[in-house]
Amino acid sequence: MNTSQGIEKVCPRCGAPFICHHENPAICQCAGITLNKNARAYLRTHYRDCLCRACLLEVAREMQ
Ligand SMILES: [Zn+2]
Ligand SMILES: [Zn+2]
Repeated sequence: MNTSQGIEKVCPRCGAPFICHHENPAICQCAGITLNKNARAYLRTHYRDCLCRACLLEVAREMQ
């Protein structure tokens, strides 16, 4: 099984395609962005999946 490729997903927030590496949390783009408690709670409440990097950064900034 090849787990290094990531999973192609569509961002539920902006509709942009992106690659998620959820099966490897160490390289998932979500893990590369610092999200505080509020941002994590917001994402968990509104979205079942992770967002593209741009949206994660935006949420991280909004929830500061
Ligand atoms: Zn997005
Ligand atoms: Zn992810």
